[in-house]
Amino acid sequence: MLEADVEQETAEKIVKEIRKEIVGKKIEKRLDINQFVKQEIKKILAEIMKTNEINFLKETGKKKPFIVLLLGPNGAGKTTSIAKLCHLLQKHKKSVILSASDTFRAASIEQLEKHSKALGTRMVKHNYGADPTAVAFDAVEAAKANNIDVVLIDSAGRQDTNKNLLNELKKMERVIKPDLKIFVAEAFAGNALIEQATQFNQAVGLDGFILTKIDTDAKGGTAISLLYKLKKPILFVGTGQKYEDLIEFHSSFIIDRIV
Ligand code: GDP
Repeated sequence: MLEADVEQETAEKIVKEIRKEIVGKKIEKRLDINQFVKQEIKKILAEIMKTNEINFLKETGKKKPFIVLLLGPNGAGKTTSIAKLCHLLQKHKKSVILSASDTFRAASIEQLEKHSKALGTRMVKHNYGADPTAVAFDAVEAAKANNIDVVLIDSAGRQDTNKNLLNELKKMERVIKPDLKIFVAEAFAGNALIEQATQFNQAVGLDGFILTKIDTDAKGGTAISLLYKLKKPILFVGTGQKYEDLIEFHSSFIIDRIV
């Protein structure tokens, strides 16, 4: 479990459950013991990974404009995931506006702008150093004025120690009241990520996750820890750098990679 990036406490819980369920259990002679153990472990993992589910496309149809905020550490894949979500929404005939609210990281605005041009969608931006909430506010106003379905808001990467950035996020939450707050996490991130997601959750209340870079050799144990510790659904998994490389998450996807 640890080798597959499952966080320590979660791994211990899994091992405890496995012990409880299968040690001393009588199995029929005709059953292959390896297969039996694998099946039991899969069942236990599925149980541990159970959360409520969010159907992103359905959800975005509930309100207009529907506001989605992506947050998480630098480099996790927020900007790329915004482009992928935009592409997905467009494929389903929904109009989208992007908010370049990462006014902190150099080149982040240009990066999102490149996507907005490639996808043929509008983007609202201010200068670097501007108030991210003000950018999002303008994006929401523009969406209202132009009858746009969904606003996708980028945000600056947060280190849990950086109080300023966390306060900025709290302001975003207070003023913009996003309908969905999605934390973007790399599939191979370990214990530190769980800590960070917990802090973000306490600060602004997360609704779910996108797990990126599963196409690297990550086994994806991070998914198990996130689901077990934070009890919020994983909406999508990033499987590459292209716009189509985003798939809906199913726990069997991770379980089959690990077991
Ligand atoms: P941000 O700082 O959170 O906005 O992260 P970016 O969106 O800039 O992504 C950082 C890097 O990760 C970029 O080079 C992306 O192309 C890459 N990336 C994002 N998602 C994925 C993914 O699912 N798979 C792979 N292989 N790369 C990804």
